[in-house]
Amino acid sequence: MRVIIGGIPGVGKTTVLNGLKSSGIRVENYGDVMLSEARERGLVQTRDEIRKLPVQIQKEIQVVAARKLSSLSDVVIDTHFSVVTNSGYLPGLPYSILTILNPHLLISIEADPLEIFERRRRDSDRKRDHDSLEKIRQHLEANRSYGFSYSAFTGAPLLIVLNEDGKADEATRKIADIIGNGGTQ
Ligand code: ATP
Ligand code: AMP
Ligand code: MG
Repeated sequence: MRVIIGGIPGVGKTTVLNGLKSSGIRVENYGDVMLSEARERGLVQTRDEIRKLPVQIQKEIQVVAARKLSSLSDVVIDTHFSVVTNSGYLPGLPYSILTILNPHLLISIEADPLEIFERRRRDSDRKRDHDSLEKIRQHLEANRSYGFSYSAFTGAPLLIVLNEDGKADEATRKIADIIGNGGTQ
């Protein structure tokens, strides 16, 4: 089963999915694949520079990453349903990418906007954008809307999972349960 997980930066996707690895579920990070391609092309040094590249280049690298990930059939992919670029929201899974990846289940990871704001502020490992609460709210809304569109395109159900402060393990468990049940309950 191929599961695609999206959520806005700092919502806690990677934290929540790290907890899945111990149950033997394969997790791949779309950004890792884009980063290695962008580095090979000499375009960036860090993952937080990718969204600042010209949109056309991001789209090219996005397709390369999808092709590489498409060889995996049992996988959970950690990605973004929409990326804030200098030209506006870029869909993380436009139709061309959805047809390559063909997900069976989509999961939107969400959290309280203030908690996301604080997580970004505290996270010194990354070069995060310190957006206003209003901008975080708008991106959460965009993320969920894109998720519903992807669901409508593919017929894959969209599950919304809340990653509450201090409760990442609960979100992990919810995801592990649904994947363990083959994506349905
Ligand atoms: P990106 O899309 O930029 O990779 P992400 O969604 O993968 O972001 P993480 O890197 O997993 O986000 O988490 C961002 C920060 O929030 C990290 O410092 C992490 O430790 C913290 N965090 C994640 N989930 C929780 C939680 N439930 N409670 C408290 N802190 C959390
Ligand atoms: P992450 O570590 O998840 O933030 O991934 C690093 C970067 O890769 C993100 O900040 C985006 O710029 C980019 N990225 C990840 N997934 C996608 C996607 N589906 N489409 C476009 N860019 C993406
Ligand atoms: Mg991450």
